[in-house]
Amino acid sequence: MSTPETHVPFFDLHRLYLEQKAEIDAAALGALGSGHYILGPRGKAFEEAMAASLGGSGQVIGCNSGTDALVLPLRAAGVGARRGAAPPEAEVITVAHTAIPTITAIRASGGTPVFVDVDADTWLLDAKKALAAVTERTRAIIVVHLYGAMGPVDELVEGLKKMGRADVAVIEDCAQAQGASKHGRAAGTLARFGSFSFYPTKNVGCIGDGGAVHAGDPADAERLRWLRNYGQKDRYNAQVEGGMNSRLDEVQAAILSVRLPKLREWNARKETMVARYRRELGGLPLTFQKVAEGVVPAWHLCVVATDAGPTRDRLQAELTGRGVQTLIHYPHPAHTQPAFAPYRREALPVTESLAARILSLPMNPTLSQKEQDLVIRSVKEFFR
Ligand SMILES: *Cc1c(COP(=O)(O)O)cnc(C)c1O
Repeated sequence: MSTPETHVPFFDLHRLYLEQKAEIDAAALGALGSGHYILGPRGKAFEEAMAASLGGSGQVIGCNSGTDALVLPLRAAGVGARRGAAPPEAEVITVAHTAIPTITAIRASGGTPVFVDVDADTWLLDAKKALAAVTERTRAIIVVHLYGAMGPVDELVEGLKKMGRADVAVIEDCAQAQGASKHGRAAGTLARFGSFSFYPTKNVGCIGDGGAVHAGDPADAERLRWLRNYGQKDRYNAQVEGGMNSRLDEVQAAILSVRLPKLREWNARKETMVARYRRELGGLPLTFQKVAEGVVPAWHLCVVATDAGPTRDRLQAELTGRGVQTLIHYPHPAHTQPAFAPYRREALPVTESLAARILSLPMNPTLSQKEQDLVIRSVKEFFR
């Protein structure tokens, strides 16, 4: 029954490429022919364009991936690597309800993840719980702006200041939230560091891997530039430990410069689609993520939660049967996965309940109205 006409893919990356094919091809070919492939003019131009798009208050440092965009600031903040600069068991507080790279990055930087639960309505880091988890070993808190909404950055920054712990670095994981804002301030600029991913499906995607960090403090920005380039201040002059090879190459930077100007339009299209899902499915026994006051999300995913796990699984099976592809972000919270279970300290009831009930509906800049119609009709018929 899933003929090509009725089949709704979760995301069609080829369609997104076709939307700007001529410009992307020209940009990539220009980089290929330039003879300058690493840390060249295209990377610099993109970093400047992105910094301007975030309000121009800080600097953007390109790197290899969104994962590295978290590792680099963690290291800059003194987690691991620097001998004598941090206790070996430096703790990094974050959520288990996230894409696994958030946690991979904490371990890659030498930190110990400390998991706290999410808020039952926003599905994002619970600021009170995060602040209550701060110890003398805490070096950083990563607030994940999951699905494109924004977590309680201000509350964390203010709360740490009140506790006399402004030394704890707050990092915004903006991998899913490029273009979001809170009271007019861009996601990624509200804390000491903002981390971005250009994984192909993200709000602005490479044709490959890429990432970037925003830093408001020039000294932080400089340290990040050293860290991404073997720890070198300049050639043959290694300044800091913990350096790595993590640079955004010229081909990807050229492509990103073509795509960045489309961010607003793509996010606006997605906003319209999410609004439509909320309107059409609002009367059904489904819950949508609550958006905090003052936040304009950059919808990366449209996630609904059913009342119970079995309903979610049956709904997903029904949609699959009708040719509608759905995904679950994420089915297994980090503290339940083998690699990170050793860091589990306590149960995370909200996180665990959500993981069993959530389902991501097709939603991306190239989804057609007809495709969304089919998704809406299928969900409604399931509940009828
Ligand atoms: C995608 C993602 C990352 C990692 O990005 P990569 O570019 O794939 O390394 C980190 N955190 C979150 C929340 C993500 O969605």
